[in-house]
Amino acid sequence: MSYETECDHCNTKLVVIGRQMGVPGGLEMEEGDCPLCGNVVARIMTDGFISVKLTEKQHQLLQTIFNASRWGHSSPPDVVDTACSLIAAGFVKQSGNDLHIPAEVQQALARIHQPLKV
Ligand SMILES: [Zn+2]
Repeated sequence: MSYETECDHCNTKLVVIGRQMGVPGGLEMEEGDCPLCGNVVARIMTDGFISVKLTEKQHQLLQTIFNASRWGHSSPPDVVDTACSLIAAGFVKQSGNDLHIPAEVQQALARIHQPLKV
């Protein structure tokens, strides 16, 4: 089971993934946190566990910004536009048209197995 959601704290687009363990009578309330800000974004009764990742699109956006900043390039205006909620939340730092991803965000992505590729 998986579905898309949006963190109501930082507006990051997320996907909640649930895995059933198939244990009879093992239902428990599991919580899933936003990987970037730690806000609880899902509460599900399950006998397994849930994980929360960034949507493919959101992750690609961060990768695009990361690539540009590594090469010292400015991000195009449409990328800056698309990233506005991430910039507002402080997960993408902006100076003019130059965007970069802070180390703590890169670490958060690595923790959920969505590292930015160098
Ligand atoms: Zn969040």
